[in-house]
Amino acid sequence: MSDILQQLNDVQRQAVQTTSGPVMVLAGAGSGKTRVITYRIAYLIEQERVEPHQILALTFTNKAAKEMRHRIDQLLHQGSTRGLWIGTFHSVFARILRNYIHLIGYNSNFSIYDSDDSKSLVKQVMKELNIDTDSVPVNTIQGIISRAKNNFILPPQFQRDAADYNQQKAAKVYEVYTRKLKENNALDFDDLLIKPLELFVESPQLLEQLQDYFRYILIDEYQDTNRAQYLVAKQLASKHRNIFVVGDDAQSIYSWRGADITNILNFQQDYPDSSVFKLVENYRSTQTILKAANGIIRKNRRQIEKELVSHKSTGEPLTLIESFNEKREADKVGEYIRSLKLSKDYEYRDFAVFYRTNAQSRVLEDVLRLHRLPYRIFGSVSFYKRKEIKDAIAYLRFILNDHDNESLLRVINFPPRKIGDVSINKLRDFAESRNLSLYGAIRHAAEGGFQARLLNALNAFSSIIEQLKEISREGSVYDVLNSLYELTGIPLLLRAENTPEAMARYENLQELLSMARDFSDHHQGANGLNDFMNDIALATDSDEIQESDNYVSLMTVHAAKGLEFPVVFITGLEEKLFPLNYYEQEELEEERRLFYVALTRAQEKLYLSWSKSRYHYGQPQGCIRSMFIDEVDSDIVESEGGRLLSESRMERERPRQGVQQAGRFNGRSSVPSSFHERPRGEGAGVKKTSDMKAGTRVHHAMFGPGVVMAVQGSGSRQKAQIKFRNAGEKTLMVQYANLTIV
Ligand code: ATP
Ligand code: MG
Repeated sequence: MSDILQQLNDVQRQAVQTTSGPVMVLAGAGSGKTRVITYRIAYLIEQERVEPHQILALTFTNKAAKEMRHRIDQLLHQGSTRGLWIGTFHSVFARILRNYIHLIGYNSNFSIYDSDDSKSLVKQVMKELNIDTDSVPVNTIQGIISRAKNNFILPPQFQRDAADYNQQKAAKVYEVYTRKLKENNALDFDDLLIKPLELFVESPQLLEQLQDYFRYILIDEYQDTNRAQYLVAKQLASKHRNIFVVGDDAQSIYSWRGADITNILNFQQDYPDSSVFKLVENYRSTQTILKAANGIIRKNRRQIEKELVSHKSTGEPLTLIESFNEKREADKVGEYIRSLKLSKDYEYRDFAVFYRTNAQSRVLEDVLRLHRLPYRIFGSVSFYKRKEIKDAIAYLRFILNDHDNESLLRVINFPPRKIGDVSINKLRDFAESRNLSLYGAIRHAAEGGFQARLLNALNAFSSIIEQLKEISREGSVYDVLNSLYELTGIPLLLRAENTPEAMARYENLQELLSMARDFSDHHQGANGLNDFMNDIALATDSDEIQESDNYVSLMTVHAAKGLEFPVVFITGLEEKLFPLNYYEQEELEEERRLFYVALTRAQEKLYLSWSKSRYHYGQPQGCIRSMFIDEVDSDIVESEGGRLLSESRMERERPRQGVQQAGRFNGRSSVPSSFHERPRGEGAGVKKTSDMKAGTRVHHAMFGPGVVMAVQGSGSRQKAQIKFRNAGEKTLMVQYANLTIV
């Protein structure tokens, strides 16, 4: 154990060893806050002999939880974290709710709705209430409801307080939406935070039991907790009062989701006897990177004064990349990665490319693919959001919880069973008249006087569901999913369709099956399917990052929180993009904090990049470079030619002449020669597509890499049959297909 404590500095060590009473660690990025939480848990288990199950550690992502558990096992010994409660607020409380939610009238097999599911329910409710979605968009109503929930404002109070038109409409929807969720035995994401609070009100005994149970509570990224999270944590901690929170007000970037920075600012008021530690040493980044970050955050009016001191050497200046359009920007990023990897022995996993909005990822992705750089993209359409996966999951959910009408409606015509809206409405009426659930109505359809064709379709459907329910009682998750595929024939249908899209969907379903197999191999026990569904429902994009994979990481800055990478590119640094449109000083300050988060992810080298034009709504538009670039001290930023901006502010106005100046990066040129070439036009340097013949390797913007199998016809009529690596075989008109020969 003393070994472990040696791996900490004095203040970190004190924070670890102050094990009783409320403690807050308030410190800037990279100062070891997460490390302190990890070591403190190890210390509690090893030194103070606390049972792991008495410790509750709340992280911001599932990935962070996994890493923390792994690290503690390493510090102590394998298996020492068994029983430890560690995870996100959502995943931990989903688990707790499974055990106790019956106390507030739900069944423990409740479904968890993601934001798309809840959006479709909101939409349905709006339709029922005759609220025109053109005058008030569904997203707006959904946003208002979610925010109310995050602030723990329940429908009656919300109704009383609703001030403007939108809020009054939202109040009506909120009430019905809440009722419908309950009828479906379903919880949305926000419910995972507020149902525990309702549970505590309903059952003070349970609250007391849990207060006794969790002797130690630790929370990472405390600055991004919202009111509901704050209240849950406070209530749980109120008996032992061993609450340990770490955070950085300068990294609060989720206020749009209801996070409330005052939680961190008020900690000392909530707990007047608390100890507060400040960490000032940064172990992550070079002095130069820190200087940039410190300079940026100082521009915000609203912040707690903190200055970070680097433990590392001065390091390289930041490099400013300027491009004439976003394609060229992506190109340059790709070229830098390639050249750095060669010259400095980096691995692909050492690189991260950040952007402000998800939409920016597509161009980066296309270009990196062209460069044949392995990458993974996080924060785009997650695997779990793809239609076929959601459909399969809806089946599984419905097998567990046949009150879940949303899932039922999703799968009743998947695969197509010709049960149309009219039939569904008839079923609804029948259900209501008999006081049955929708599925109850299907089961009793024979008594409903329906047409024979509909009756057959309904019976076929319910027979599949009943068989699957039976299998789920004894079988593993894998058995259930495998039988689902067999009984519904979904994969076969996709294969028969044989389009690249269908094949990709088929592959995705197979991937889900592999996951189920893996899960079944590692989890025994009665609750298999429930646990599997918990994991899936709460998986977030950033969880998909796998350390062992050697990929360049592409992600939004939000998704990058808490992570670190040797080399970071921040792209799209343009006005109205980063900072994104803002209307008030407060919003600009949040954008600046986001920029601070981005800067402080970098360990060794940082690139700031902007583009002079960018497509917006299908049109190229001129861009102005971000104020954030100019807020970085010009003494520590150099142009691609290697000159400090402070030396030559005019540099970027002068035409570059292909001169290569010695880069400062490690004494070697950091600038691949092609960077100073005349901008390449689209398709320049690409061989003509008329050269195409069987065997030619090509690249398609959407389908990716492929090989030509055969070519038919000529001129504008020419068609090529191409086998794509990931998208199957396709025949395309060469003239229109926008193919490149590689
Ligand atoms: P963020 O605010 O970005 O979440 P953080 O404060 O949580 O950052 P950590 O991720 O815990 O910081 O630490 C940053 C890096 O510094 C990690 O690689 C960590 O292992 C390392 N580090 C922290 N403290 C020490 C120390 N005392 N000795 C050596 N390395 C350390
Ligand atoms: Mg951290």
